[in-house]
Amino acid sequence: METFEEHYESLFNTLYRQMPGADLVLIDKAIHYAEEKHKFQKRKDGSPYIIHPLAVAQIVVEMGLDMDAILGALLHDCIEDTDASHDDIAKRFGDTAAELVEGVTKLTRADFSSTEEAQMENLRKMFMAMSKDIRVVLIKIADRLHNMRTMQYQSPEKQVKKCRETMDIYAPLAHRLGMQRIKWELEDIALRYLDPAGYENIMSTLSAHKEQDEAFMHTIQERIKNRLLDMGIHNKTYGRIKHVYSIYRKMNAQDKTLEELYDIYAFRVIVDSIPDCYNVLGHIHDLFNLVPGRFKDYISTPKPNMYQSLHTTVIGTQGIPFEVQIRTWEMHQTAEYGIAAHWKYKQGAGEGNEKDFEWVRRLLESQQDTDAEDYVNSLKIDMFDDEVFVFTPKGKIVSLPAGSTPIDFAYAIHSGVGNSLVGAKVNNRIINIDMPLKNGDIVEIITSKTAKGPSRDWLNICKSNQARTKIKQWFKKEKREENVAHGRSSFESEMRRIGLPLSITIDPEVGPQLLKKLCFDSWEDMYAAIGYGGLTAVKAVGRIRDDINRAMKLQANDKLVQGTTLKTEPESGKRINRHSVNGVIVEDIDSCMIKFAKCCTPVPGDAIVGFITKGFGVSVHRFDCPNTSDKENPRFAARWVRVRWANQDDQPFETTLELDCITREGLLLDLATTMTTSRVRVKEINGKDLPDGHSIFTVRFEVRNVEELESIRNKLLNIRDVIGSRRGQN
Ligand code: MN
Repeated sequence: METFEEHYESLFNTLYRQMPGADLVLIDKAIHYAEEKHKFQKRKDGSPYIIHPLAVAQIVVEMGLDMDAILGALLHDCIEDTDASHDDIAKRFGDTAAELVEGVTKLTRADFSSTEEAQMENLRKMFMAMSKDIRVVLIKIADRLHNMRTMQYQSPEKQVKKCRETMDIYAPLAHRLGMQRIKWELEDIALRYLDPAGYENIMSTLSAHKEQDEAFMHTIQERIKNRLLDMGIHNKTYGRIKHVYSIYRKMNAQDKTLEELYDIYAFRVIVDSIPDCYNVLGHIHDLFNLVPGRFKDYISTPKPNMYQSLHTTVIGTQGIPFEVQIRTWEMHQTAEYGIAAHWKYKQGAGEGNEKDFEWVRRLLESQQDTDAEDYVNSLKIDMFDDEVFVFTPKGKIVSLPAGSTPIDFAYAIHSGVGNSLVGAKVNNRIINIDMPLKNGDIVEIITSKTAKGPSRDWLNICKSNQARTKIKQWFKKEKREENVAHGRSSFESEMRRIGLPLSITIDPEVGPQLLKKLCFDSWEDMYAAIGYGGLTAVKAVGRIRDDINRAMKLQANDKLVQGTTLKTEPESGKRINRHSVNGVIVEDIDSCMIKFAKCCTPVPGDAIVGFITKGFGVSVHRFDCPNTSDKENPRFAARWVRVRWANQDDQPFETTLELDCITREGLLLDLATTMTTSRVRVKEINGKDLPDGHSIFTVRFEVRNVEELESIRNKLLNIRDVIGSRRGQN
């Protein structure tokens, strides 16, 4: 059984070696804090629990991480397994360490096992996305590594489950983070439990060949070393057998036995500079026969995880092929420790090496300041900012756009689930269906057979196109009548807002053209589309607005032209006055029927405005006529047209004045006399006595212009008992 003392000593030895400046007192304090907290817990093998955090911390130190990460590793199970709180840890060991522990706890609580291959990438993404700080992922990987190393104490079921998870999540993550060494160890241990027979087969074959292999590797190693020494190239060269899982994979992929397998040996030559790497490559190719097509230059083209090396495969003396990897020390460090090499550099390596950490520099590209702290901040994972990963109650992972709600989730599961959604639970608590989901949430949708289906509001709430499309589909299919009614009312109110007549849609000539423009077969179809949200009313009206206005003008024109033609000389087919009709010019309309409004009887000189009537041409009003007060009303705006008087002073215009008078005998005669002496052609004079002793006289007569009218009006007003006058007869 392993003891606390052994692990404690081993950790401190590693610390002395790797982190001479570490705050050992604080580390000791964290160890004793964790030991106290975990004191009632035992490992599966019966040893004290504290051994696990000690071992994890040691791996973290070996990775080369910093003080906070070491504290985080020592305390990583405290929040999950003991009564320790975030605040207590923060108080004693600092906020950062507490944050790291919190982050690890979150990952520990999430279940990353899945049987679906398609889910793996999402699981890995979520794992990363859930960790704000890359050190959380690194501690979690160290935690998993130690658990894998002690896997023999677990039940067979747990072994398989954990090893599957390791293969699916942890090893690929270690690979992505460039941590080759840990990746290999994780894979080899996992294989041992996932395919014990396959693993044993390789191990026994390897051990049977052990002496032979070692002799072979020694020979090759010496040949390379000696050549490079002769050439004065400082190097470290060693051979190794490729790790078990990679052999296993190759055997399965190529369907070969271990003996038949090509290149299970790998040699590594580590040198001081990049020119040396290419130099060495030349010597290797000189010493051995190269296998064509196997040379790879990962120095000029690094792998995405920043791995750099030259790879070549050659054939040794006994016809055995082997791979040689040539790299600098910096590349080696990056290959072994990956992302963690940064911290290793910060504490260990010399100052001048930073520029060699090309991949670190790339990570830092956007960062001006390469301070350690800034660097750590820059590593906060933001590559999945636009996605959120959540679970079904059965542990299936669902990836949604960031900001997604239970509505999006429900439709991602199945449109049937979305359409019968009545509520949602997140992490077992009922929440509003418009609440944004967070990474790692377990979402349960409450459905009901009597659900009324989605609400239109959901279209604005949901974030995913999938949900939006499915909701629209539902409305399209299930609610046609409602859609038509809903769409019709939106369409009509938009038409009114713009001031277009609704009747135009049923116009036998214009209606079908408009529908064609809108790409619908019927108005009902279009209303339905607006109703379910496939088209907005504003867009629909916008699309046909110009056509409607044009059609209306044309129609008005047509009718007016007909009217004008009848009034002038139909036989000749020639309009006497091309531009003015009855002394009025209507702008924009070349020739049309004109009539003068009865309400205000304009005469030349009056400011006037025209109104396109339905079928009676343009009716000309005085600009200040009360009946023109709706000029600004958008509903009619298109029908009001600008008109002006043509210069035809000699043409008489009929106009009307209404006179307020005090009733007396002889007044009618006085009015008639005044009109006659003014040489006005009177068409009509009517009088009407009111019960209050007043009379109203209406005088219809002809004038040539507004000046003449005003002069007559003044004369009339000078008659005794005439007390007021009004234009028109309204
Ligand atoms: Mn642990």
